[in-house]
Amino acid sequence: MTSDCIFCKIIAGEIPGQFVYQDEQVVAFRDIHPIAPTHILIAPRKHFDSVHHVDASDEPLLGHLFTAARLIAEQEKVSQSGYRLVVNTGAGAGQTVFHIHMHLLAGKPMSDKLV
Ligand code: 5GP
Ligand code: ZN
Repeated sequence: MTSDCIFCKIIAGEIPGQFVYQDEQVVAFRDIHPIAPTHILIAPRKHFDSVHHVDASDEPLLGHLFTAARLIAEQEKVSQSGYRLVVNTGAGAGQTVFHIHMHLLAGKPMSDKLV
């Protein structure tokens, strides 16, 4: 737990989160400012500032984020319509919370363009 990290606080239950999925490695909760009808944040319980701070030993945990994403997409019934997974890395890419997380976005048409 990193004391000044808002996602660590959500994961620890110190501030509320609308959880949609939890297991021993990752949690998922609804984004407080959704930009799509389904907007879920998937984060490892372990704190990493960003992708820039991971290495090969983290691959099982980080791979598990994708398994969680697949399960959550099924749970949210967006698997067939499609969903977008986004990991912003660094302030210049729009990262605002420095606890690594994956956005799962779905429920509205998305253009082919990423930005
Ligand atoms: P980033 O810009 O770092 O990729 O994404 C951070 C996301 O966290 C943003 O979409 C923002 O709306 C969301 N967020 C920031 N603070 C909170 C919070 O306290 N609770 C929840 N559920 N989401 C948050
Ligand atoms: Zn954290």
